[in-house]
Amino acid sequence: MGGLGMTTKFFEAKHLPEEQREQLCRDLLSEFGVTNIKRTVTKELIHSCPLPFGGHKNGDRNPSASLNFVKLTFNCLACGNAGGLLWFIAACRGEESSQAREWLESQTGLGQTVMELKLLLDMLDAMYVGEQNEHSPIPTYSPSVLDPWTKWPSFHPYLTDGLPEFGIEGRGIPEGVLKHFRVGYAEEYFDGTERIIIPAFWRGTLVGWQARHILAGDYKDKYRNSPEFPREQIVFNEPDIVGPAPIVVESPMSVLRHYGHQPKMAATYGAKVSDHQLRVLRQHPELTLWFDNDDAGWNATHAVGEANSRYQQVWVIPSSYAADPADLPDDLVDSLIEQRVPYAIWNPPTELTPWKG
Ligand SMILES: [Zn+2]
Repeated sequence: MGGLGMTTKFFEAKHLPEEQREQLCRDLLSEFGVTNIKRTVTKELIHSCPLPFGGHKNGDRNPSASLNFVKLTFNCLACGNAGGLLWFIAACRGEESSQAREWLESQTGLGQTVMELKLLLDMLDAMYVGEQNEHSPIPTYSPSVLDPWTKWPSFHPYLTDGLPEFGIEGRGIPEGVLKHFRVGYAEEYFDGTERIIIPAFWRGTLVGWQARHILAGDYKDKYRNSPEFPREQIVFNEPDIVGPAPIVVESPMSVLRHYGHQPKMAATYGAKVSDHQLRVLRQHPELTLWFDNDDAGWNATHAVGEANSRYQQVWVIPSSYAADPADLPDDLVDSLIEQRVPYAIWNPPTELTPWKG
């Protein structure tokens, strides 16, 4: 492949013969320990489901999973989980898709496949980020995937009021809110760490989750996303907001923390707001922005304000606190929301007020 231009690569990838696609998919399945594979006339490989969160009894002995080697999509009829091939690889390996991508790139071949697996990646890119600039399919999960993380006799004190005598600081989320969003707790997540699981539902379907490390502070891997997490295509809690003005914050944690008294908060999963998210938010007659008080947050405020002011009334919360909404108490949040100003006259604070929670 080396030395060939992009166009040639896409051309080759798209025209990878079906027999080779099938062999690559068979080799991938055997890499994940799947041995019983049947091919159908509809170009699918039927096999036992290897997903680590499928909840299959007896290892799905009567095969209910199917890998379409033409469309490169996976679907399991028994556990109800489905997604693209890269999602499938990441899910089987308990990783995020960026790691699955690195793994694929590092392989020089699997089983009988002489061809580099890199070719498979090129093919996925050509199918999903090629000239049509489409996203790969959004994964869909059965909500029962959340059971191991939500079926606790009671909520972990980290989510609610904490256990100060054990040094556990609580996030102060009411139990009713935890139930509503099906927030869970993983004593041992796939990477062995202790994490809070924040599910992402989009128009009624579970499309992924964020696993947030229980410790406060900023560090690498604070958040781990489910594979192929559709960050750019969804807005946390937005579909359930009726009425004029969602209050848009950066992080689902802020929504969880304040949903009890401000149910119209929605979160963009970070300060980079995608075009798709802009369009989703544009459907409301008004919008109120409350991104974090840092350069990234102010840039996001300007980006959304400029892009959406032509379509809707955009407001901004004039907070001067060096704290995210998740760290501020209810009454302060309520009064800051009442002080919202039109985007046209908003300026970032010149000085930040320290906040001690
Ligand atoms: Zn399954």
